[in-house]
Amino acid sequence: MSGAAAIAGGNEHSGLPRSKPMRTLSLVADRKIELVDVAAPPAPAAGEVQIAIKAIGLNHIDVWGWRGMAFAKRKLPLIVGVEAAGEITSAGPSVATCKAGDRVVAYGALTCGACKACREGRDNLCENVGSIMGFHVDGFARDLINMPARLVVPIPAGVSFRDAACAPVAFGTVQHMLFDNAKLEPGETILVQAGGSGVGTTAIKMAKAIGCTVITTVGDDEKAAKAKALGADHVINYRTDRFEGVVRKLTRKKGVDVAFEHVGPDTFNGSLLCLKRGGRLVTCGSTSGQSTTINLFQLYLQQYRIFGSFGCSIRNIRESLAKMAAGLMPVIDTEVPLAEFERGLNRLESRQVFGKIIVMF
Ligand SMILES: [Zn+2]
Repeated sequence: MSGAAAIAGGNEHSGLPRSKPMRTLSLVADRKIELVDVAAPPAPAAGEVQIAIKAIGLNHIDVWGWRGMAFAKRKLPLIVGVEAAGEITSAGPSVATCKAGDRVVAYGALTCGACKACREGRDNLCENVGSIMGFHVDGFARDLINMPARLVVPIPAGVSFRDAACAPVAFGTVQHMLFDNAKLEPGETILVQAGGSGVGTTAIKMAKAIGCTVITTVGDDEKAAKAKALGADHVINYRTDRFEGVVRKLTRKKGVDVAFEHVGPDTFNGSLLCLKRGGRLVTCGSTSGQSTTINLFQLYLQQYRIFGSFGCSIRNIRESLAKMAAGLMPVIDTEVPLAEFERGLNRLESRQVFGKIIVMF
């Protein structure tokens, strides 16, 4: 990442010729993001492309990074933004897969591209993964970025930058959870926790698209109506009803085939209780805390299968964009301009959202 390195330090070296400044959004302290001008990156090196960023999707990982995480190894200031869409402005030598003018999204983890997992297309299991952009190292919230061409994926015609910006993390993560890990099949029943979130709305739509029965939980009646409008068959307000009991009733005591988790301790054991024998629980997050205890008798007697899922493969991003091109669009809660990135994070943190928050350049 010669571009990221140059940007991080380039501004301080007064002896170097200064290129045109560009905007970045930089995390300078916990809960403090500033609009900072730095020198634009150099021309893309061999194997790299330069991308003009157009839209950024916000995710809970942005909120964690913004709040500050004691265990995360990183240095501030840090350019934020973990998923983005943009347009290639120039391509470096020996780049044959894309060219200036192509609209693309980028894979935001700096994988090695050479280990067994990378070679087999299991990018999120890379043995030498360097960092997650926007969290450990500089991310996408800047006018221009240089990226390895092998990490960019073209946006199909008819899909906007705004919608495509949801592909690398929100859509890709759900695609990987449902189809690579939980192996969700048409006709199965799925419980989607927190159906109003970015991943929750995506899971509802992807599961309905293959003909599943979807039961989802939300925190208020307004979100319940919206989840219903997305196609959810049954919506449970978890503040007024115990979801475990309702799911038991809805499935005539059988339980669901798959539970889609990302809430954590508040719902994890309840989600396990909702599974039928041999059911699968897949989780990609724990917004309500880090730890929980589980009943091991229940785990093996009921033959549950639990999948931890983080990120996705580049193939999952392609699949996500293909779904968008076929009409399965992300649910957008709000668009905010670049300078209001923190307002977007506040809104996401407050959980007063239904769908995705997108920051537009
Ligand atoms: Zn690798």
